[in-house]
Amino acid sequence: MNMNGINDVYGLGELEAAGSALIEAHERGHDLGEWGPTIGERMRIARCRLCGRLVWTVRPPGEETWRVGGNALNADCERGFRKRPES
Ligand SMILES: [Zn+2]
Repeated sequence: MNMNGINDVYGLGELEAAGSALIEAHERGHDLGEWGPTIGERMRIARCRLCGRLVWTVRPPGEETWRVGGNALNADCERGFRKRPES
């Protein structure tokens, strides 16, 4: 099952969340740089090299799983804009 546009993924480990974020951002034309240092042990941020939008993985307090978010997942990259074939 392929669900486009999800930016709130449940039940992920940290690496899976990061991988999911990379794929999702790539589909929108972003080129993420290195993941930054963990912030407060429950958040990591990566920035698009092209447009500077951010993706993050976050583990909410009291939860075991990581979620994915960021404005790079809600918008296509301005420098690498590609229309999707579907829609
Ligand atoms: Zn971008």
